[in-house]
Order: sequence, then structure tokens, then C-alpha cells
Amino acid sequence: MARVHNFSAGPAALPRSILAELSDELAEYGDAGMSVMEMSHRSAAFQRIIDEAEATLRRILNIPDRYRVLFLQGGATLQFAGIPLNLMRRGRAGYVVSGSFAKKAWSEAQRYGEALALASSEDTGFDRIPGLAPVEARAAVGDLDYIYICQNNTIYGTQFHALPGCGETPLVADVSSCFLSMPLEIERYGLVYAGAQKNAGIAGVTVVIVRDDLIDDGPASPYCPSYLDYRLEASKGSMYNTPNTFGIYVCGKVFRWIEETGGLAAMQQRNEGKARLLYETIDTSSFYRGVSQPDSRSIANVTFRTPTPQLDAEFVDFAAACGIVNIKGHRAAGGLRASIYNAVSRESVEALAACMREFETASETRSR
Ligand SMILES: *Cc1c(COP(=O)(O)O)cnc(C)c1O
Repeated sequence: MARVHNFSAGPAALPRSILAELSDELAEYGDAGMSVMEMSHRSAAFQRIIDEAEATLRRILNIPDRYRVLFLQGGATLQFAGIPLNLMRRGRAGYVVSGSFAKKAWSEAQRYGEALALASSEDTGFDRIPGLAPVEARAAVGDLDYIYICQNNTIYGTQFHALPGCGETPLVADVSSCFLSMPLEIERYGLVYAGAQKNAGIAGVTVVIVRDDLIDDGPASPYCPSYLDYRLEASKGSMYNTPNTFGIYVCGKVFRWIEETGGLAAMQQRNEGKARLLYETIDTSSFYRGVSQPDSRSIANVTFRTPTPQLDAEFVDFAAACGIVNIKGHRAAGGLRASIYNAVSRESVEALAACMREFETASETRSR
């Protein structure tokens, strides 16, 4: 069985060259005489792995010195709690409810303080990024500890194409599914975080990048678990306890691959090209329909539908016969979804576009 065209939303495709390196180094890493999986996290060899991973990430993202970089576990989901526990000092934050993950983060924050939904697109099935005027108006009042967004909505295929103006209020963003797919102006955020399994590595690592003045006084809540205490984790170099050593090692390889293949501007250009090809295939057809509103479309997750749920299901099977997998939409959204992260090649996207046109022709011939 050859490798398939994998459009998984996460855990997702990794660059082939990295898989080959991992396989070469699996039993013996360098001259360590053992696998990274068998190595103490306190060893010099592992310290080099995590230091290099962080240094490479700092270079590709241009992370200013006053931001700390953490490699934590528990997925993006644990940060839904970590953020209010650390940052809700006055007990009030604003949320933009633009999809399922944003809504979960908003609900979780309500356990720890007042979490206001400043804007929502739930009434239109999360098919767009809601208007941000109320967010900016509330930010101007200056009574929020932070404003929270989910910058790319993985399930619905929408993405912020402009950030809300938050003034002095820190902007916090879940960038799980757009992390490293394009340049990010870190200075515009108080905190960004991403589960690695979309674009940055494998499941089990969450990268948190946070401005030091927001964490210097320790967590906002006395009940914040030590593990989630950003100041403590920063002071311990993400090794308050045993980190996900193998996951961090893979992240380091992905960061280096990004750097060596042109950096984030090149990633963005490639990803936009891939997205354009799929959206054009959808827009020039009377058979397929895009799910997200055109001005909110994601370059990472392309959501679409055929005329009926029955045909959606048939397309999944049709595509599988062409070696195209993981294009069924999320159960909450239905339809179809192609996730086209950095490691999904142009060639795979062209294969999908060709398969879509073939299926359209076959369906129309049949219905005539
Ligand atoms: C995948 C994803 C999550 C959930 O990540 P876990 O690692 O499963 O907790 C949260 N937010 C976004 C935007 C995601 O894409």
C-alpha cells in the first residue's frame, strides 16, 4: 500500500522527509546509543533537542525576547482552562464565539470568571467570522483581562483575515490550525497557542507563546494547577515535570523543515495557492458549494458540499478509490472538508481537485 493523499484535520500529514529521518534515528539518536523515547529529559542530549526546537521556532516566527515559549501537554483543550486561570486577574474576559473550539473555550472560562461573548456567528451555523465592531468597542472600555479568538476555525473552515483592534487589552488566540501556515505578528498578541498535531508536529504537544509581563506575577487564580502555571513552566524551561520528549523532538524537526523550505512567507504562498485551487474548483462548479462565506474562508481547512448528503458520502468513497482520504466533514458540520496544512503537497491538492471534477461529471452523466 503506497502513501495516500491525506487531508486529515489533525493529527495530520507530516513531511515525508521527516518520517524518513525519524525512522533512521528511531533506535539510535546520533551517538546517544538510544532512542529519544528512552532518553532522560534531564540529559544533555534532550536539553539540546528542546533548546534547538525553541531557537528554531523563535527564528521562523520572529518571536521577541519578551515572549516565553512553552511546550506543554494536554492539547489545546487544556489551555481553555489555562488561559483564564493565569490571565483573568480582574475576573472578566471577552470571547469571540466563531466555532466549536471557541465555544468550548468560552464555556470553560465561565468556570473561572465572567466570560462575555462579544460576538458570535452561531446563528448562521458558524459560516463566517462575526463582525468585530462590538469587540473593538468593548476593548476600548478597558475592563477586560483579555480578548479571546480562535483564529482559524478548523471544523467550519473560517479564518480571521484581520485581527480585532484591542488597544491595551491583550489579544489571546488559539492558532492551532493556522500555526506556522503563514507569518504571525507575535507582538499583536498577549498569548498565542497551538496544538501541534495540525501543522507543527504530532499530538501531545501544545506550544504556548506568552508575553512575560502577563505571567510575571504568577497565575490569576490560587487554584491554578502547578502544571498550568505559565510562570512556573517558563522558569523550568517547560520541564516542571516530564514533558512529551518525543513530541518536542518531532516539533523541532518540523520547525527546521519550515525554515529550510523557505520559512513562513513561503508556507503562506504555497498554502494560498493550494486553497485557491480548491476554492476555484468549488466556485466554477454548479455541483459543489463552499460552506464558509467567501470573505471568511480558511486557507487551512476547505469546507464544501455536494448537492446532497448522500452524494457527499458517495464522494468520500469515490475519492478513497483514488487514494484520497480523510475528507469527510467534522460530525458537527457535516459535508466535506479538506485540510491542506503545510505538509499536504500541491500534488495531493491537484489530485483532489481532479477527483472532484471527475465525480461531478460522473454524477451528472448518471442523473441525465
Ligand atoms: C484541534 C483543535 C483544538 C483541539 O485540540 P486538542 O489538542 O484536541 O485539545 C482546539 N482548537 C483548534 C482551533 C483546533 O484546531
